[in-house]
Amino acid sequence: MNPFLFTNIGSLVRAHPSGGQGDLGVIADAAMAVERGRIAWVGTSRAVPHEYETWDRVDLQQKMVVPGLIDCHTHLAFGGWRADEFEQRLLGVSYQEIARAGGGILSTVRATRGASADELLARAERVLCEMSTLGVTTVECKSGYGLDLESEIKTLKVYASLAQRSPLTLVPTFLGAHTVPLEYRERREEYLSLVVDRMLPEVVERNLARFCDVFVEGVAFTREEGRRVLTAAQKLGLRAKIHADQMSDGGGALLASELGAVSADHLEYISPEGRDAMARAGVVAVALPFATLYTRGIPLRARELVAAGVRVAVATDFNPGTAPSFHLPFAINLACTLYGLTPSEAVKGATYYAACALGMQDEIGSLEPGKSADFAIIDAPDVNHWVYYLRANSCIATFKNGKKIYSTEPFDGVSDS
Ligand SMILES: [Zn+2]
Repeated sequence: MNPFLFTNIGSLVRAHPSGGQGDLGVIADAAMAVERGRIAWVGTSRAVPHEYETWDRVDLQQKMVVPGLIDCHTHLAFGGWRADEFEQRLLGVSYQEIARAGGGILSTVRATRGASADELLARAERVLCEMSTLGVTTVECKSGYGLDLESEIKTLKVYASLAQRSPLTLVPTFLGAHTVPLEYRERREEYLSLVVDRMLPEVVERNLARFCDVFVEGVAFTREEGRRVLTAAQKLGLRAKIHADQMSDGGGALLASELGAVSADHLEYISPEGRDAMARAGVVAVALPFATLYTRGIPLRARELVAAGVRVAVATDFNPGTAPSFHLPFAINLACTLYGLTPSEAVKGATYYAACALGMQDEIGSLEPGKSADFAIIDAPDVNHWVYYLRANSCIATFKNGKKIYSTEPFDGVSDS
C-alpha cells in the first residue's frame, strides 16, 4: 500500500502508555501518516510535517480513529453451544451445580472432542470475520475444551491455521488445566501429570502457544495445582495467565503476583491482599463483564483496582457457556455500566492495557510512530459518545498493518488487503 495521510480526524485516540487508566492522549482535529504497515506520524492537522504533504490523502470527515481493539481473553474455538444451560441458570440452577452434573465446560468438551478440526476452524473463522467488523484486530484464543492430548493439540493447531488465513493477529494460549475431565474425576493427580508431563512439552515443542492459563476455582483447580502447572509452563518458556477469583476468593490473584503472571482475569472475588499484590507485581487485571452479566454474579470492583494502581484490561471471554458474545465494544460499555469504569478507562482497557495483558505493548495497542498501523475508524465524535450510544456497530472501517480489512465506505484511493 502507498503511504497515506489520514486527515480531518475529529478525535485521534492514541491510547498512549503514559498517564493512568483514563489517559488516552486524545488529539482533536488530527492527522495520521501511515507507511509500510506502520504509523509514521500522528499530530494535529495544523502540524503536519512538510514531508507528508505530498502523500495521498484520505479525508475522514471528523470521524474518530482508535487503536485496533484487542480482545485479550477468548475461548475462540469450541464445539456446540449451551443455550439450554442459559435457561437453567435463569431458572435458578447455579453454574457450580451445572458443572457438577457434567454440564458446563464438560459438555463443551464433549462437543469439541467430537468436532473435526475443519469444523472448528470454519466456525472460528466466521467469528474472526465478524470481530473485524467491530474494529478488533488482535485476538487471544485459548484451548481448554479438549482436555486430552489429541484434542488440545487439535484446537491449538486450528489457531495456528487461522493465524495463517486471517488478517487478524491471533495469540494462542494453552489452557489444558481448564477443568478436570470426566474420565479423570477420581484421578485428578493423574490428569495434572498428563498436563504437566505430556501436554505442556508437546505444545511447546510444536510452538503452539505463547501463554499457559489455569482456572483456579473450586470447580476446577486449587491454588497449589495452579502453581504446579504454571511453574512447569514458565520453565518451558510460556508466560502465565490465571482465571482467578471469579466465583470465590481462591487466592488466584496472589498466585498470579507470586509467579509474575502477565495477567489475572475475572477477579470479582479478589481480596484486598490480592489486589495490592497485583499492583506491586504489575499484573494486569482483565475485566470480563459478559461473564458477570450471564452468571448474574457480583460486579468486579474495578474502581478499587484502578485506585490501587492496577492496570485494568477489558475483554469478552467469548465462550459458549458464560460469555456467548464476541462484541468487544459492548463489553467496553459493560465495563462502564456494570463495573463503573469511565469510557476512557474502558477504552484504554481494550487497547493499550489489553496489549499489556498479552505482552505486546511495544507492537500494538496504541497509535504511536513505529507501531503497527492497526486502527478502526469510528462514527462518533468522541470516546464518551461512542461508548454511551450503544449502536449495533459504530465501526465504519478496520485497518490491520495499514491494510483495510473492513469498511462500509470506499475511502477512495486506499487499497484493500
Ligand atoms: Zn475465560
